[in-house]
Amino acid sequence: MNEADALRAAALLESAGFRPVERARDAALLLLNTCVVRQQAEDKIHSRLTYVAELKRAHPDRTVALMGCLVGKNPRELDRFRARFPFVDLFLPPSDLAPLRAFLEARGRLPSAAAAADDLPPPPLPDSQTGRAVVAHVPVVLGCSHACTYCVIPYRRGGERSRPSAEILAETAGLAARGVREIILLGQIVDRYGLDRPGEIHLPELLRRVAAVPGILRVRFLTSHPRWITDDLIAAVATTPGLCPYFELPVQAGSDAILAAMRRGYAVADYKTLVAKIRAAIPHVGVSTDVIVGFPGETAAQFEETMALMRRVDPDMIRVAKYSPRPLTYSARHLPDDVPEAEKERRRVALEAQLRARLTEKNAPLLGQTVEILVESIEKNGRRHGRTPDNKPVFVDGSTAAPGDAIAARIVWAGPFSLIAAAT
Ligand code: SF4
Repeated sequence: MNEADALRAAALLESAGFRPVERARDAALLLLNTCVVRQQAEDKIHSRLTYVAELKRAHPDRTVALMGCLVGKNPRELDRFRARFPFVDLFLPPSDLAPLRAFLEARGRLPSAAAAADDLPPPPLPDSQTGRAVVAHVPVVLGCSHACTYCVIPYRRGGERSRPSAEILAETAGLAARGVREIILLGQIVDRYGLDRPGEIHLPELLRRVAAVPGILRVRFLTSHPRWITDDLIAAVATTPGLCPYFELPVQAGSDAILAAMRRGYAVADYKTLVAKIRAAIPHVGVSTDVIVGFPGETAAQFEETMALMRRVDPDMIRVAKYSPRPLTYSARHLPDDVPEAEKERRRVALEAQLRARLTEKNAPLLGQTVEILVESIEKNGRRHGRTPDNKPVFVDGSTAAPGDAIAARIVWAGPFSLIAAAT
């Protein structure tokens, strides 16, 4: 979501005459997009801000903008931020470019909103990315109203708001015209798309329509919440050309007691049933998941339940995070962070080792097989980089394909997290 927001900000800035530079110290305007989903991400922002403050001191006429989840959506917090970061000129809530637009208009870099009423919106992709970006993220649901007990997102990105489908389809057509071939529809709970907008189509139909946009070869969507996946969605993925057989389906824990404490809204058995149903309906489907280790109160035995669940559902990727309490959340306020850091680390390492061993075994039979790859970029050594429809990263040797081409290639090396192929 942050990548999508940053790209939109870049498109707006380029439409106002700015161009990207390599080094922060050469920039007339610096926009720092922030994530606070974990403490580690927040710590990173503060060290960057120290550097940005120095750059601002060196050139006070340089504009500094702070965007994203650190800023949040509560206007009452702005005074606190202004006092804390006096070198920041502009504060932008997540997915909200209005303050940047107003700033550019006030300086005559963009036509004013009234004058621009008949103008087209800024391009969906910065000029500097046009013809180069093969994959683009399109936010379709902003915010989240679920309130899992550990999650700060509803407090920073606000409640759930689906965007109108007409706007999403127009944006997709604009991206296709600029050379994009793969669209990734984004939402914190993307499978709830449209449910908050009476009369709007829902995710399966939106996916079908996006996949039908001329020029678009592939469509993915993330992140799904297990509770909102419908049979219609599974059927859409199974039968619509261009819809990639891939689900991002965070489970977070393999113990019912921990899932209840997280208020995820499903039980382990529901998750197992859902994954089995998806695998039965869609051959070669890729399923990835997220797991939090060391949630308050998680015992070693409950963590072993997570290990067992992962062996059972056999995901194609697991993103493992160590629990860290986030301000304002229910768990930070009410549940002691009682799993020691060393034990959280032990659980993370154990889960990742199990994953690595399983993926090594699971990818081995791909050797010699021919797979379809959408080329996304060309590496410095000439290798093409892309992905299979089920989202495995592949490096292709001996290919002259351009980014955006869909090619067939034969797997010559299979590792746990990437594949190497030879052009056919
Ligand atoms: S569904 Fe996802 S974004 Fe929403 S509160 Fe839960 S973890 Fe956070």
